[in-house]
Amino acid sequence: MNTFLQNNPTRLLFGEGQIQKLPEELGQKGLKVLVVYGGGSIKRNGVYNDVIRELKNAEASVFELSGVEPNPRLSTVQRGIDICKSEGIDFLLAVGGGSVIDCTKAIAVGAKYDGNPWDLITQQAPIESALPIGTVLTLAATGSEMNPVSVITNWVTKDKLGWESPLVFPTFSILDPTYTYSVPRNQTVYGIVDSMSHALEHYFHRTENTPVIDGFIESILRTAIDNGPKLLNQLDSYKYRETMMYISTTAFNGTLMNGTDGGDWATHRIEHAISAIYDIPHGGGLAILFPNWLEHVLEEDPSRVKQLATNVFGIEEEGKSDKEVAREGAKALRDFWNSLGAPSRLADYNIDDKQFDSITVKTFIKPGVGTYKELDAESVMDILKRSL
Ligand code: NAP
Ligand code: FE
Repeated sequence: MNTFLQNNPTRLLFGEGQIQKLPEELGQKGLKVLVVYGGGSIKRNGVYNDVIRELKNAEASVFELSGVEPNPRLSTVQRGIDICKSEGIDFLLAVGGGSVIDCTKAIAVGAKYDGNPWDLITQQAPIESALPIGTVLTLAATGSEMNPVSVITNWVTKDKLGWESPLVFPTFSILDPTYTYSVPRNQTVYGIVDSMSHALEHYFHRTENTPVIDGFIESILRTAIDNGPKLLNQLDSYKYRETMMYISTTAFNGTLMNGTDGGDWATHRIEHAISAIYDIPHGGGLAILFPNWLEHVLEEDPSRVKQLATNVFGIEEEGKSDKEVAREGAKALRDFWNSLGAPSRLADYNIDDKQFDSITVKTFIKPGVGTYKELDAESVMDILKRSL
């Protein structure tokens, strides 16, 4: 293992009815709170009413920013920053999925900065301070509720960039599985794929002696594979929703990096480049790319994909080469996601090879893509072609 420091300051309040703790978590009465949310699902499923009731109990002055889009945009971040500055907002409350939370994180740092928030996201200016944020999660997928990461799309330059700062860890996150009952089937599938991808990306590290973390990741993946189809058969099951919610938070809250080099996030980088041009759902893009990344990687070094194949998918090894076992593992992942109804080809989103050059350039918007296998432009092109 490598030396490591784990410091995740987010207070997690997990389970039905935890919204009642919101006033206590705010820590103070009478705050000016900006509630950030998306296109209206929280109004249809009652979450909005619960949040407003508790903010009243906290004697908060409530301001709202609605309409945060999936794959949140810089222009929306700017709208939030303008409200924070003109109203003197004290606290940001994100109520939604990863997009709402990521947008809120960018507002939090932008509200304390005088220039264009894109400077902070592109690291052209240092992030020195942020408004505090809390979250009420409504979709199990990204882990953003308990990590310092955010992904923002600049629709003018057509760039989708991940960034992070310890200053944007939520101070608290309220995770009530009943709030995810209304997540439609396709978004539920994307959430399963995204959280499994996070677990998988952590798995592809090159650090020696990490049996606990490797076993933990394998257990998360096996549980997702067992739980996913059951959940899709019963979207309002508390049992399956709570398992899914705990999987998605754990898959990307720092724990799975303990003592490792952090894993290989190349698939996320390529997905962001595709989303920046085509605005496709994040989980859908990952479902297409990940099995092809595995196939690309195993040609050079099948060892880790083989371990995934045997320990997670139960592929028999007898009489087969390492590569054959690894290939069966990559196929098993693809077959599993297909069985849930996830897309498997770029053609499913009407994407052909016309923009492959541009996707490749955007993948390298920040230098260094991949650590388990460092990718060059040719490798990215190979993965894209396999994904057609
Ligand atoms: P999302 O984009 O936040 O939401 C997708 C859709 O689900 C929205 O249309 C939303 O509708 C709807 N929805 C959310 N909760 C719902 C509910 N309870 N009932 C019914 N519909 C609901 O999805 P996401 O997968 O959580 O986030 C994706 C974004 O996160 C991408 O931009 C991705 O790149 C990023 N990401 C971030 C991290 C990170 O660590 N920060 C990691 C991976 C990915 P409404 O808008 O109407 O609410
Ligand atoms: Fe993701």
